[in-house]
Amino acid sequence: MTRAWLGIGSNLGDRRAHLAAVLRELEARGIPVVGRSSLYETEPLHYLDQGWFLNAVVEVRAEDGPEALLRAAQEVEAARGRQREVHMGPRTADVDILIFGDRVLETPSLTLPHPRLAERLFALVPLLEIAPYATDPRTGLPWSLARDGLAGQPGQGLRVVAGPEEWGEGGA
Ligand code: ADP
Ligand code: MG
Repeated sequence: MTRAWLGIGSNLGDRRAHLAAVLRELEARGIPVVGRSSLYETEPLHYLDQGWFLNAVVEVRAEDGPEALLRAAQEVEAARGRQREVHMGPRTADVDILIFGDRVLETPSLTLPHPRLAERLFALVPLLEIAPYATDPRTGLPWSLARDGLAGQPGQGLRVVAGPEEWGEGGA
C-alpha cells in the first residue's frame, strides 16, 4: 500500500459535480480517498482563453503501482467525458498523480513527482494544506519552498471556495 496525492481540476460544465464524481469514480475502482483539501478556484495558466478552474488535491491509498494508478486516473477522466483536444486547455476533469510515495520515475507516459508540480500554485497550495511536510524525493527539500517561491506571482491567482468538508459528498 502506497500513499499517493492526486491533483484534480475542472473548468468545463458543472465543475463541482465533476470533481465530486472523480472521488466516486476513484472509490469505484478500489482506490480509497482518505483525505481531501479545500476546493480552490484558480486562474488558468498557459492557455488563457478559458474559464477559471476548480482545483483540489486528494490523498489516496494505492494497492498497485503508479502505472495502474495512472490508468485508473485516465479512466476516471474519460468517464467524465474528457476529450484531449487542447494540451493544458479546457477540461471536464483532469486527474494528475502529483506524488506516489517516494517514487521517482521518468517514462514516456509517467513522470513522478509530477513534472509541473513545482510550477503550479494550484497544485502546491492544496497539496501542502493536507501534506504540509511533503518533500521532493529527488532533493529532500520541502515542497513548501517551491510554494513560497511562486506565491504572489502574476497568473497564479487562487482563492478558497469551499472547505474540505463542504464539497465532494453526495455529488455536491
Ligand atoms: P496536464 O495535466 O499537465 O495539463 P494532461 O492532463 O493533458 O496535462 O496530461 C498529459 C500527459 O501527461 C498524460 O497523457 C500522461 O501520460 C502524462 N503524465 C506524465 N506524468 C504524469 C503524472 N504524474 N500524472 C498524470 N499524467 C502524467
Ligand atoms: Mg493531467
